[in-house]
Amino acid sequence: MTAGVFSYSAVLMGSPILLKLFDDNPTLARHVFQLIKQQENLFTVNRAESEVMSVNHAAGRHPVIVSEAVFALISVAHAVSLLPDSAFNFTIGPIVKRWKIGFQGRAVPPAPEIASLLKLTDPHQVVLNPADRSVFLQQPGMEIDLGAIAKGYIADRVQAFLRQQGVQQALINLGGNVQTLGSPPHEPQGWGIGLKKPFGRDDELLGVLQVQGKSVVTSGIYERYFELDGRCWHHIFDPQTGYPLDNELLSVTVISDRSIDGDIYTTLLFGMGVEQGLAYLADQPDIDAVFVTRDRQIICSSPQHFHFQQLDVDWQLRY
Ligand code: ADP
Ligand code: MG
Ligand code: MG
Repeated sequence: MTAGVFSYSAVLMGSPILLKLFDDNPTLARHVFQLIKQQENLFTVNRAESEVMSVNHAAGRHPVIVSEAVFALISVAHAVSLLPDSAFNFTIGPIVKRWKIGFQGRAVPPAPEIASLLKLTDPHQVVLNPADRSVFLQQPGMEIDLGAIAKGYIADRVQAFLRQQGVQQALINLGGNVQTLGSPPHEPQGWGIGLKKPFGRDDELLGVLQVQGKSVVTSGIYERYFELDGRCWHHIFDPQTGYPLDNELLSVTVISDRSIDGDIYTTLLFGMGVEQGLAYLADQPDIDAVFVTRDRQIICSSPQHFHFQQLDVDWQLRY
């Protein structure tokens, strides 16, 4: 327990949100939560109204002009979706909506239905016009979903806001997306961020990552899922098949400067799997990752930006 830490919490974006400061400053905390709420209101697809929903409602009909922040985030999501063999596809909306994972009424959809919804998930059919900041989904029924990137973007916004307010040491956790400023006082090793045991209790950790001023983002198949016929149907979809990604991975954690990168790379690396993911990271000196696999391995890419302390010895740690 760090001396002098003040924790503030809220439930936003369907997740528990935690802010740690080293001053008792509830006003600042309230401003942070307001900022998160205001950003969520732009990006969400879980309610009828948001800027993103107005783009979706106009699919196949007309372009929609959006705010600078929404246009910027859609542009990033579009570019990442167009990377060769990308597992990230921000037009996955119709598939996500149909599976309803994490919501009432979830079920494995009939295969022909998945096949026809997949035709509505082509990122090439999104037209972005920077001149008037408009977004047009060319086919009726297309839906964009920024769920795999928005929390990272918002975590970076919070970090920038806190820095602007003169804060030098802080942590924000947006339910799996952690962003930090500096290190806690008297803890030169940095922030300790728990790596959860997949399908374990909240307090069961495989180990602890130590970072300073870095973002730590985890995507895990155990975060939102349901079980049926002995299979775990989770919320990260393979854009090629329309089914949840099915490989050796239970979770991927990315350590990076920017949380938006962490959010993007967790999805990309999920799609690549361990071997291809490690090879890919060899060319990305600013991005580190920790892969957790079904055969109980914890695999760290070259850990330049963090230190990992293993706690659960039933899992095999390798680099
Ligand atoms: P979390 O919701 O736990 O933060 P992620 O950052 O991995 O997890 O985002 C998962 C969300 O992203 C899903 O709930 C869905 O809205 C969306 N999504 C699912 N599969 C994909 C995909 N292949 N590409 C882009 N977005 C996706
Ligand atoms: Mg996320
Ligand atoms: Mg993500």
